[in-house]
Amino acid sequence: MPPSISAGDTSALHHPLDSICGVGPRMLSKLTKLGLQTIEDALYHLPLRYEDRRTLKPIARLTAGQQEVFIGKVLAAGEVQTSRQRRRIYEVIVGDSSGQISLKWFRYPKGWLQKRFPVGQQAIIIGEIKRFGSLREVHHPDSELLPEGADPLEYLQKDPVNFGRILPVYPLTEGLSQKQARKIRYPLVQQHAADLRSTLPAEILKRLQLLPLAEALRGAHWPAKEASLEQLQQGRDRCRKSLVFDEFFFLELGLLLKRQGVQLEEGFAFKVEHRYTIPLNKMLPFKLTDAQRRVLGEIKRDMMSPHPMNRLLQGDVGSGKTLVALMSALIAIENDTQVAIVAPTEILAEQHFSTFHNWLEQLGLKSLILQGSMKSSEKKAALEKIAAGEVDLVVGTHAILQEGVEFKHLGLGIVDEQHRFGVKQRSILKHKGTNPDILVMTATPIPRTLSLTLYGDLSVSIIDQLPPGRKPVTTQLYTRKQRARAYAQIRQELEQGRQAYIVYPLVEESEKSDLQAATEAATYLADEVFPQARIGLLHGRMKAAEKDLVMTAFRRNELDLLVATTVIEVGVDVPNATVMMIEHADRFGLAQLHQLRGRVGRGAEKSYCLLVPSDNYGADAGRRLQVMVETEDGFRIAEADLEIRGPGEFLGTRQAGLPDFRVANLLRDAGLLETARQEALDYIEKTDMLKDPSAAEVKAELLRRWGGRLELAGIG
Ligand code: ADP
Ligand code: MG
Repeated sequence: MPPSISAGDTSALHHPLDSICGVGPRMLSKLTKLGLQTIEDALYHLPLRYEDRRTLKPIARLTAGQQEVFIGKVLAAGEVQTSRQRRRIYEVIVGDSSGQISLKWFRYPKGWLQKRFPVGQQAIIIGEIKRFGSLREVHHPDSELLPEGADPLEYLQKDPVNFGRILPVYPLTEGLSQKQARKIRYPLVQQHAADLRSTLPAEILKRLQLLPLAEALRGAHWPAKEASLEQLQQGRDRCRKSLVFDEFFFLELGLLLKRQGVQLEEGFAFKVEHRYTIPLNKMLPFKLTDAQRRVLGEIKRDMMSPHPMNRLLQGDVGSGKTLVALMSALIAIENDTQVAIVAPTEILAEQHFSTFHNWLEQLGLKSLILQGSMKSSEKKAALEKIAAGEVDLVVGTHAILQEGVEFKHLGLGIVDEQHRFGVKQRSILKHKGTNPDILVMTATPIPRTLSLTLYGDLSVSIIDQLPPGRKPVTTQLYTRKQRARAYAQIRQELEQGRQAYIVYPLVEESEKSDLQAATEAATYLADEVFPQARIGLLHGRMKAAEKDLVMTAFRRNELDLLVATTVIEVGVDVPNATVMMIEHADRFGLAQLHQLRGRVGRGAEKSYCLLVPSDNYGADAGRRLQVMVETEDGFRIAEADLEIRGPGEFLGTRQAGLPDFRVANLLRDAGLLETARQEALDYIEKTDMLKDPSAAEVKAELLRRWGGRLELAGIG
């Protein structure tokens, strides 16, 4: 049951932003565009970077490449024409006793500039200094005019918000200027930062030398004069660190308690007599790898314990996760419970079904497949069998998670390619039985720090070894002009009796043209390039039965070449396929490319992956393709992916069901995440969260941050 939100909600922090002075309806709509609704939102909306306005430099000492603030008097001004490009620009030359500098505008309201900068006018200029040879310029500077005869220093002192300090630079939206953004934040932070009470245990704050929340927020918005600009710019100052730690601590505390909660629940303690697993082992044409055996041991131990299993099985593509799933399923089945396996696509579900069905049948066990595309009479019959307990194992897509699918006694739920699903699907599956064991599988290796957050409530098993005899896949990059060479390579493989994939990306604008592209390509390839080959076509708009037909034919080696859109991305397993050509490879993400490439190199023969990008691709795409050529190591690919895309995209944090980060950056703050996890672990070990009065505040804050997403046993 999701806990109700309580604690400290009544304070001003939750008031709408127009309750503060200076925010009218127009400003409010701009702030709303930035995602800011309450005072608390605005407090946590931190500067992107900072601008150093502590001192005014003489013009001679302004440094190129830096944002600087200086005072100058207008010496000359007017429109000039550039000699080379014949463009008109507006130029204002300003100077002080030390030197001169030129201000330039390339797009400008002329009248306004003329009026603003007459000769003799004194102004404070803010902007980035650029150097062209021996000349220095500022383009489109910000400026503040000084009243005639004003003493600049005195004037600056009168405006302590904007001068004489390190200033925050905020994210903006259309119609909101930096100056306005600061003007709203200043009183807001002064008045309301104190409303945020630190709920972190004082002992931890002290030991780690972190600041209380209010102080940290104040310093992050309006840094102290003596703060280190460099640390601030990198987000490594003490204030920001304190805020990040605060955020991570409650994240990790939640994850740990969630995991503990599961461990406290009562589950089914399976007995393992190997009634089916030993016979299966004898039937298999190969031996389990050491890694598979170790992982199975970990799963078995979980299944035998009286608490429900909640385990993540991570293994690179082709590492043999399916077999581990099958073995685990057999343990559940020998205990007279049912097993559900959920896969992200119909093709994958069908493939799993054919693997499982084959083995289970030989063991005298019953399985069936459940898909969204089934006829309703078929589906009804299937549902009845499942509810009556007449089938031991059900393979399917999301269809399994729907209402109306009821098991007689679900003992084990398996989710394949977990990264395609969220925490919610896992939870639905869990509720299809009485605390069944849950095994989720993923081929997307996640750097350790990230897996702490994403899967912090799961135990993790890793298959870190591929079955023996695998040959590495050679990856080559071809330009579109070199396509003929790629075709020749494919032809060579086909002549040796092997099979090939040619993959096309989804064309996003219209699904129709995607289909068209793939269909046309198939026709062209059949007529012009591979007239001898038997070619099949597979795309997302085909009916399940049609897809099945094509896949089965390919699997049986009745087709030589499969032209496909990314529907084959996950899990498809045809060991005789030794070459894959990926068209427009620049349009795929790294994880996707790695998954796709994982379709080859599954047998004993040497395999190839041929990447043919579009003619003009961007820098990020170039980096992705390079990574693919350089490595097959899933972990290195994941890390590169994370670097190129950034953690938000990489994780899809929201989809994963985690609270959003307001301050933290998973890449930058990885070290702090580890610390926070350790501290959270120590904290729950030392504290009785239910009885200890000192824990009440921490608990209330925890529930507030996680909202309904924390399904805890016993702490709600
Ligand atoms: P993935 O981890 O990507 O899901 P699969 O389970 O599809 O990998 O396994 C890939 C291939 O390796 C399959 O053809 C499977 O039969 C084979 N395989 C699995 N385990 C072994 C093993 N121990 N020895 C040899 N081949 C194996
Ligand atoms: Mg798989």
